[in-house]
Amino acid sequence: VMASMAHLQEEKLRLQEELLGLQEQLTARENGELSRSLQLQGQVDALKTKLLEQAQEIGRLRSELVSCLRAWAEPPLSRGVTELWVPKEERGMGGGRRRIKASPGCSWTLRAKRGTLRDGCLGGFLSSAMSQSGALGHSRERLPNTIGRGSKSPSGDWGSPGVQETIASLKSQPQQIKYIIKTVEVESAKVKQALCESQSRNQYLQEQVGMQRQVLKEMEQQLQSSQKTAAQLRAQIVMYEAELERAHGQMLEEMQAMEEEKNRAIEEAFSRAQVEMKAVHENLAGVRTNLLTLHPALRTLTHDYNSLKRQVRDFPLLLQETLQSARAEIGQAIEDVHSTNRELLRKYRRELQLRKKCHNELVRLKGNIRVFGRVRPITKEDGEGPEAANAVTFDADDDAILHLLHKGKQVSFELDKVFPPQASQEEVFQEVQALVTSCIDGYNVCIFAYGQTGAGKTYTMEGTAANPGINQRALQLLFSEVRGKAADWDYAISVSAAEIYNEALRDLLGKEPQEKLEIRLCPDGSGQLYVPGLTEFRVQSVEDINKVFEFGHVNRATECTNLNEHSSRSHALLIVTVRGLDRSTGLRTTGKLNLVDLAGSERVGRSGAEGNRLREAQHINKSLSALGDVIYALRSRQGHVPFRNSKLTYLLQDSLSGDSKTLMMVQVSPAEKNTSETLCSLKFAERVRSVELGPVSRKTELASWPSQEQLEGDVPGPTAPSGRGHPSPSPGHLSSRAASIRRKLQTSG
Ligand code: ADP
Ligand code: MG
Repeated sequence: VMASMAHLQEEKLRLQEELLGLQEQLTARENGELSRSLQLQGQVDALKTKLLEQAQEIGRLRSELVSCLRAWAEPPLSRGVTELWVPKEERGMGGGRRRIKASPGCSWTLRAKRGTLRDGCLGGFLSSAMSQSGALGHSRERLPNTIGRGSKSPSGDWGSPGVQETIASLKSQPQQIKYIIKTVEVESAKVKQALCESQSRNQYLQEQVGMQRQVLKEMEQQLQSSQKTAAQLRAQIVMYEAELERAHGQMLEEMQAMEEEKNRAIEEAFSRAQVEMKAVHENLAGVRTNLLTLHPALRTLTHDYNSLKRQVRDFPLLLQETLQSARAEIGQAIEDVHSTNRELLRKYRRELQLRKKCHNELVRLKGNIRVFGRVRPITKEDGEGPEAANAVTFDADDDAILHLLHKGKQVSFELDKVFPPQASQEEVFQEVQALVTSCIDGYNVCIFAYGQTGAGKTYTMEGTAANPGINQRALQLLFSEVRGKAADWDYAISVSAAEIYNEALRDLLGKEPQEKLEIRLCPDGSGQLYVPGLTEFRVQSVEDINKVFEFGHVNRATECTNLNEHSSRSHALLIVTVRGLDRSTGLRTTGKLNLVDLAGSERVGRSGAEGNRLREAQHINKSLSALGDVIYALRSRQGHVPFRNSKLTYLLQDSLSGDSKTLMMVQVSPAEKNTSETLCSLKFAERVRSVELGPVSRKTELASWPSQEQLEGDVPGPTAPSGRGHPSPSPGHLSSRAASIRRKLQTSG
């Protein structure tokens, strides 16, 4: 609004200036017009007076001419004198009219002249008359002088006796008159000429008058146009004034509106300000009260500040003291911690030993050799119909018992643990992992997968890529355990993979897998065995393990025509060595984890196999029975353990003896068609497991072992064994039973 107001003001000023300029222009123009019209008026007046003069002159001349002509037309012969009229002005000057009497000689001349006129030459006459009148004028001028000189009558009257006398005197002087007449005649030509000049002058003047009239007319026209322009300008001024008036009015209205708005805004602002003012007042009151309360606070603050200042001043000293005492305290604390640490370390070592002892005790109580059973699910390969029917059932209350329906009879077996078909790899490994970790503590561990071909040995040990078995899980667990102990221990995990086929040991990770390796005694006299040339890979991650496994598989596959068949007839070993160093004590440990996927335990020899197949079967049987013998000898704590009877037992010698731990995972098929082999495997498992109890029991146990024929024919009753009890043995049969079992193992695997 202010801006538009200012704009309107500017507009108004500009219009006013414009109006002033126009008014000035108009007045200047009017002044110019006025001065010009005045000038013209003066010129016109001058011309008018001139014209008047000319007209008078003309009139005078005409009258003179007329009088002259009249005088000439009626000659006063009797009188002989022509009266001549003196112009008014001359009368004034000369003091009245004077009459001149012409002599008779003069009248004659005039008559002659009249005769000439009458003869018809009027033009010539007129011109002569005119000239005469001119001459007359001239003589009139001269006459008074002459008269003055001749007679000085005080009255000046020609008719008076004085005049008469004068005339008389003149008459008496005829010569003189004659002369005068002659002079007049002579002068009349002059007069004529003067008349002519006057006429031409008259004409010139008339022309001048015409011209002046023309000029006057033009000037009048100019005046008119000027007046018109002035009128137009006036109209324009009026229009401008009206416009100005309108603009002014509009401006006034707008200004009024703005004023109103301004007033309104001011009112609003005022009311707002009042409200704010009120709030401010209230605030101020609050602040005042606060101030009042703050005063004591300020006092206390000042007091505090002063005391703080004092403290700050004293602070360096205090700090020094505190630091000294803190240093002393810290030193003391460090000393305490050191001694505590020492104590703790001592306790830790004692605990470690105790733990190991407890562990050993536990293992001893649990048995160094544990036997698990795992039943695989029925698969497509089992086919359909009664042959593929499930023959294995489980005890709902005891996970160590399973029942096998064989030839219509239910046989029950008790192992350390039984895994049903639905048990996952994870669950299986849960039970195994304690064994695996004991490897880190320096124990040697063997995990065997035993069973007929197709019972799930490889599945349990290797598993699938999506669901790995014990091998990979064990290594993963070792990695994580080792990581957990990394603060105190340095561990190195390395793996070897070997295969025993037909009693020949081959390196699956070596450059020459077909090369047969030998097992030798360490030359250091420690009694330890080693395999010269067996490749050992250091592994640090799951990726490393996978690479090693893949490499082993590839090597194994290239060495045989049918991997499935080959693998079922050979033992596959994964040997994991965990070497540890306790950095604080310098203690070194070496643990070995042997993961063995055994060859199929099915009794091939009975099916009349020949050649290679027979040789394979014999080797398998031999090695499996050797394993049985070794386990038997170990469990029965015999002085001699026949490790050397097979490559497998010989290789695993140090992992089976001493406080080593062994797990036998007996794999069985639940299918009806496999019940015979399942029965054999389960009997083998039960036997292995039951040997463990003390020497007397052992004897008892061994005495109860049936022959292979019995194994096949003598199926235990459908009742499950009650608890961990065993059938009562006949002690005398012990050695013959063992021999029988060894024999059977050799033939049946
Ligand atoms: P083996 O190694 O004893 O000859 P395999 O491990 O090759 O037997 O198993 C034979 C078949 O049975 C394979 O196809 C395997 O995947 C399958 N199998 C074995 N055990 C299981 C199980 N627990 N769950 C599922 N499938 C299994
Ligand atoms: Mg297999």
